[in-house]
Amino acid sequence: MKLTILGTASQLPTRTRNQNGYLFEWFEEGILFDPGEGTQRQFTHAGISPGKVHRIFISHFHGDHCLGLPGMMQRLSLMEVPQTVRIFYPAEGEEYFRSLCRSSRYTQRIEFEARPLKEGLVEETERYRIEAYALKHSTPVLGYRFIRKPQWRFDRAKLEAAGLKGPVVGKLEAQGSVSCRGKHFTRQELSYRTPEKVFAYALDTGKCENITPLIRNADGLLMEATYLDSAEQALAEKVMHMTAEQAAVYARDNGVKQLILTHYSERYKDPAIYEKAVEKIFKNTHIAHDFDVFDIL
Ligand SMILES: [Zn+2]
Ligand SMILES: [Zn+2]
Repeated sequence: MKLTILGTASQLPTRTRNQNGYLFEWFEEGILFDPGEGTQRQFTHAGISPGKVHRIFISHFHGDHCLGLPGMMQRLSLMEVPQTVRIFYPAEGEEYFRSLCRSSRYTQRIEFEARPLKEGLVEETERYRIEAYALKHSTPVLGYRFIRKPQWRFDRAKLEAAGLKGPVVGKLEAQGSVSCRGKHFTRQELSYRTPEKVFAYALDTGKCENITPLIRNADGLLMEATYLDSAEQALAEKVMHMTAEQAAVYARDNGVKQLILTHYSERYKDPAIYEKAVEKIFKNTHIAHDFDVFDIL
């Protein structure tokens, strides 16, 4: 589970900060969150092929979270990527989604699948579950929780002790049990269980009840920190955004292991100011810069 930051600005990009854009890689898929203007070019700067994108998740339809969508769709089409690209977004924003899809003329060469969402379960398989939570903002917004379920992995030492190797291990994996040299083995007894892993995405939102179930015990949390308590607490509340200090308190109080802040107001030229604001609240906070890469362990 790896997160590449493609932009850390909110509405106004700066010389060093592009608008939003985050590539989350898990299993064999690339998931792009909130492509703002210039996301296509940020892929080039990051040295990553846009063709890695299998799904796009839009949190809400403010421009800094979606104006890069037409460019990304057209780029993926131009590349003729083999995958069907699924686009998830709050159902209330259907009108904006349709406008963005038809914003300029191009030849569509690949399949896109629109997935308008309401709060609740987005998708569940044996390996993972994705959930959406309605947050508090001036337009409908969804936060996303990605859960990698516990998995059975072979314990090499146990396999060796049992004298199993090669094709018989493949057979054990496929069948769940196998007999070898007169002994019977089950997959479970020769395996260990990996812990559940969670990544949570929370942009843009003011303080609200749903933040807790969205972020609880997350191994990695990407959260907006548009403002600072010291300067703009009242403004943050009014326009339904988060301050860095509020984000750090949420992380501390909900068992989050790693907090990554982004979506900075243009008024703060140097995000180091955020570091000072949160260091005493939640130590494991990272102030993201464009092109940072985080392992969500
Ligand atoms: Zn925003
Ligand atoms: Zn917004």
